[in-house]
Amino acid sequence: MSDADLLIVGGGVAGLSAAWHAKRAGRHVTLVDEGIHRASDLPIALINPLRGHTGRLVTNGIEGMHATFALIDTLRDAGHAIESGRGLHRPLIDVAPAARHEAFWRAKLDGTLAFDWHVRAPEALGLVEPVPCLHLHDAGWVAPLSLLDALKIASDATLIVDRATDIARAGQHHVVGLASGSTLTARSILWCGGAWGAALLDRHATTASGDALYKPGSLLVVDTLLTAMPLSFGLYAAPFGADRTLIGPTREGSSATFAADPASPEVVAHLADRIARVFGTTMTAHEVWRGVRLARLSSSATVALDGIPTLTALGSRGFLMAPWLAVAWARSL
Ligand SMILES: Cc1cc2nc3c(=O)[nH]c(=O)nc-3n(C[C@H](O)[C@H](O)[C@H](O)COP(=O)(O)OP(=O)(O)OC[C@H]3O[C@@H](n4cnc5c(N)ncnc54)[C@H](O)[C@@H]3O)c2cc1C
Repeated sequence: MSDADLLIVGGGVAGLSAAWHAKRAGRHVTLVDEGIHRASDLPIALINPLRGHTGRLVTNGIEGMHATFALIDTLRDAGHAIESGRGLHRPLIDVAPAARHEAFWRAKLDGTLAFDWHVRAPEALGLVEPVPCLHLHDAGWVAPLSLLDALKIASDATLIVDRATDIARAGQHHVVGLASGSTLTARSILWCGGAWGAALLDRHATTASGDALYKPGSLLVVDTLLTAMPLSFGLYAAPFGADRTLIGPTREGSSATFAADPASPEVVAHLADRIARVFGTTMTAHEVWRGVRLARLSSSATVALDGIPTLTALGSRGFLMAPWLAVAWARSL
């Protein structure tokens, strides 16, 4: 049996952000990560507090955005190579008439999120329809693996590649059984298992209100450069290498079980059709990445790990919110 100061289960963006902030708070972290079905392995993640078709502002999303970019800047200053960029366009496609006017966005965003107003989206976006467009200065994107690799190194955590099969409290300690047969004890613990971790626990199929928790989604690639800049309008499209475009995510229903199967041909065709309509060209799209996120839980439906702190269920916002949530958690250490 080995003894850890602070044990984190799960090494996606949640677990690694927490490990890095714990290290800054002077703690040594042991990280147990099986490393499979990691939702954090997507090819590009937007860091964008203005979400969905209607442009909802995510609660604390602006704080989250600044925390994620502050983390990226700090890691870069320490010499880590992280691929990311700031500045995101939001063409106003298929929105209500009011949302096509600058006054609507000024009333909604002034004093919170800086933007430029374009009466007509820049040509470099490649859109077929001359719609107005917001240019969000502070939102942006990151190549997730470059951030996770940097966090892994900078957090200096002891990594154990294994599956935590059992977590129990024993007096002042937590005892964690591993699939390999060994056991860890830890004075403090944080569970960051994401969708796959919830599936392993087999007790999180629905929230208290009966909503399914697992949200599968795919990102597709088309073999044409449709846009020279990343853009988001409920869907997103971003340059992917010199002559391809990453688009997504597919629209799929939630599931009560972890669903790793490829997207159905109908779902892929629907996204490709929509993108073709926006960019005015026919195209074939291929699935490049498939993931399952754990739906954002309401406060009345916590992940049921009795007495064990969690940083999880980040929905489609892991890269937007995990670093900010990890700061708050590290303050409590
Ligand atoms: C299609 C799609 C598009 C998305 N786009 C965006 C986006 O643009 N911007 C954004 O911010 N977010 C986006 N997300 C959401 C984002 O991917 C997730 O919110 C985030 O990755 C969740 O991170 P996590 O650390 O909680 O979980 P994960 O990344 O899933 O990590 C959990 C880790 O824990 C391990 N694990 C679980 N249980 C155990 C156990 N018992 N023992 C050992 N290891 C265990 C798993 O193997 C895994 O490695 C998207 C998600 C999808 C599916």
